[in-house]
Amino acid sequence: MRKTEDTYLHKGLRNQLVAVLKEKGITDEGVLTAIGMIPRHFFLDSAFDKIAYEDRAFPIAANQTISQPYTVAYQTQLLKVKKGDKVLEIGTGSMYQTTILAAMGAEVYTIERQEELASRTSQYIFKDQFPNVHFFFGDGFLGLPQFAPFDKIIITAAAPNVPEKLWEQLKVKGLMVIPVDESASAQRMLRLTKKKDGLAKQESFEEFSFVPMLQGKSQG
Ligand code: SAH
Repeated sequence: MRKTEDTYLHKGLRNQLVAVLKEKGITDEGVLTAIGMIPRHFFLDSAFDKIAYEDRAFPIAANQTISQPYTVAYQTQLLKVKKGDKVLEIGTGSMYQTTILAAMGAEVYTIERQEELASRTSQYIFKDQFPNVHFFFGDGFLGLPQFAPFDKIIITAAAPNVPEKLWEQLKVKGLMVIPVDESASAQRMLRLTKKKDGLAKQESFEEFSFVPMLQGKSQG
């Protein structure tokens, strides 16, 4: 990410993006406020400066992507984030989704498997503003048992299934928002609520297309 100017032009484009997301059905005021506040162009290469507020995914390093704003808004809305929620995010990527969660007051634990991306988190420019973000380099399939249980878990890569270790790290009454493979190119967004007996109540939402959730760490 890069610290650059946040001009009136950027702010205007950001307001337009918020209007687009409202039109597409996003209603959570907390989500819309956070997207209106966080400069998305900071999370992208300078080449994308003028198009950073289009509702599109863009490439970042290590052949990964920054999720489309609609996808970020959609997943965050399903997660029903409240101030103080302890949230585990799988797939730090550009740190944009991470920052939206932090701006909403969540205590965020986020894991990235690509070393190139994970190493950039030490330069997080919102470190002082959002001390409530904790970055980890590792395999998201394993979660963070040392910090469990979590109120909410969000997976931002295409999952082959619901990873058992992550399910174990979710509190009873906790929510997991996860895009699960339905075909080679599409995932169904699911929201799972952990019942008292440990089983899941499952709700199904729209289809999305994510980069794959992969096993193990990728170094170099
Ligand atoms: N939330 C990110 C989305 C990035 S794309 C953003 O808004 O920018 C998904 C990310 O998940 C990629 O960076 C990819 O490397 C990461 N990822 C895939 N499998 C993973 C795993 N098992 N553990 C941790 N991160 C993983």
